[in-house]
Amino acid sequence: ELVPLKRALLSVSDKTGLIDLGRALSDRGVEILSTGGSAKALRDAGIEVRDVSDATGFPEMMDGRVKTLHPAIHGGLLALRDDPDHAQAMQDHSIGAIDLLVVNLYPFEATVARGADYAEAVENIDIGGPAMIRAGAKNHDYVSVVVDVEDYDALLTELSQNDGQTRRSFRQTLAQRAYARTAAYDAAVSSWFAGALDDPAPRRRAVAGTLKQTMRYGENPHQAAAFYTDGSDRPGVATAVQHQGKELSYNNINDTDAAFELISEFRDHKPTCVIVKHANPCGVAQADTLAQAYASAFDCDRTSAFGGIVALNRALDEETAKAITGIFTEVVIAPGANDAAREIFAQKKNLRLLTTGGLADPTVGGLLWKQVSGGYLVQDRDTGRMSEDALKVVTKVAPTKDQMVDLLFAWTVAKHVKSNAIVYAKDSATVGVGAGQMSRVDSTRIAARKAQDMAEALGLDVPRTKGSAVASDAFFPFPDGLMAVAEAGATAVIQPGGSVRDEEVIAAANDAGLAMVFTGQRHFRH
Ligand code: 5GP
Repeated sequence: ELVPLKRALLSVSDKTGLIDLGRALSDRGVEILSTGGSAKALRDAGIEVRDVSDATGFPEMMDGRVKTLHPAIHGGLLALRDDPDHAQAMQDHSIGAIDLLVVNLYPFEATVARGADYAEAVENIDIGGPAMIRAGAKNHDYVSVVVDVEDYDALLTELSQNDGQTRRSFRQTLAQRAYARTAAYDAAVSSWFAGALDDPAPRRRAVAGTLKQTMRYGENPHQAAAFYTDGSDRPGVATAVQHQGKELSYNNINDTDAAFELISEFRDHKPTCVIVKHANPCGVAQADTLAQAYASAFDCDRTSAFGGIVALNRALDEETAKAITGIFTEVVIAPGANDAAREIFAQKKNLRLLTTGGLADPTVGGLLWKQVSGGYLVQDRDTGRMSEDALKVVTKVAPTKDQMVDLLFAWTVAKHVKSNAIVYAKDSATVGVGAGQMSRVDSTRIAARKAQDMAEALGLDVPRTKGSAVASDAFFPFPDGLMAVAEAGATAVIQPGGSVRDEEVIAAANDAGLAMVFTGQRHFRH
């Protein structure tokens, strides 16, 4: 597992730190092999180097296009030292093992960034460098590959802490970075081509993924679009099997993902149904049967459910399939679907049915990427979850057992509603959802008004928010939102707390006789 470092190959375009590194290696008795410009720089500084051309028996040729592309180099990087056949081949062909590879690539990205012409850009596509990086990183059982000047210090520290040797974990970390570098490099080359060919369509772009599907269009008909998979086996829209219906569109995929991530929160729960429209839930409910859960989710907002996405936490059954086909639905996603349900759906040619084999584990993290102009934002998936014992009761009255169930349910739904999110729930069903408003009090009022509209449509004479529990994805900055919730008839509130005006908000809750709990954790979603 500890590998001694005897021989190194240094071939770098950016010579920063090269001399110090070369000297430190040389002082440790490491033999240094190097290419033209790098060898010259080292030699000029009085460091002993052997030319790669000496090891290969070939001169560097064709304007540097062919320098290190030779079995004497690639054999030295790829040979399994402990394999007798490999050792024999090394001996037969006078190939010396290379234990350390230090490469930084021709500056392709910088070259195109300064507006180089086509021929110069092409000449700056490094061939030998990526080939060596990939070879050495594959053989990380023996080889350390450094692709970044910033890692020189870490390498020297590793050597001094391990008596001139490297640990496997260190080489693995370097290998991971090495492949990240070659992947990013080729992505830059491919993107440059797309620009040079005046083909900005995202249909065959290199991203860290595999092209799964090109689409007729993206969010709008004038936008080209494609869907890439990232190789993860997380159940979801990317790995689901589609049984029927037209190809999924960009918006279908986005909305189905939102629906499936929310239903996955209810993995171990009783039958649950989520209906999503424009990436926000417009109805979520739990019941003794899936069909009842669907009916009750539908009753939250029948208008918005039209043309929505339905997600279920159990295999689709016949009764639920019948209920769903009662209105126009774009997509149904569920862990499975029985034969009777499949037969009913077969009558609806346009309805897409996806099965996933299971639900995603909402406690498993991962990275979420969002593109901004000129860059990416990367963050952990929101795996935050709340349990009753983590809640802090802040009002004179505490929630009843039933209220507590609805509070936690509303909180889980609110996590998946675009901010500012307000969710009213009663008897394990949402009755009003306020999403995506710039002011929290507006979300509160919209949710209450939607609940009132549905009450009228259903012929009920009490507002559906009466006696409900309400969740707010972030704290109420002022008492007005809290008062609006009380006016709507809610009797229990769950929110993160943490506002400078918490005391005022708590006082308003006490005045209105509400039970309120703080989670200490918020769920912004933008
Ligand atoms: P030097 O300045 O040492 O002459 O060249 C270093 C650069 O050459 C490094 O960026 C390295 O990735 C690149 N390089 C090494 N071997 C080859 C090769 O065989 N072909 C090409 N095109 N580039 C190479």
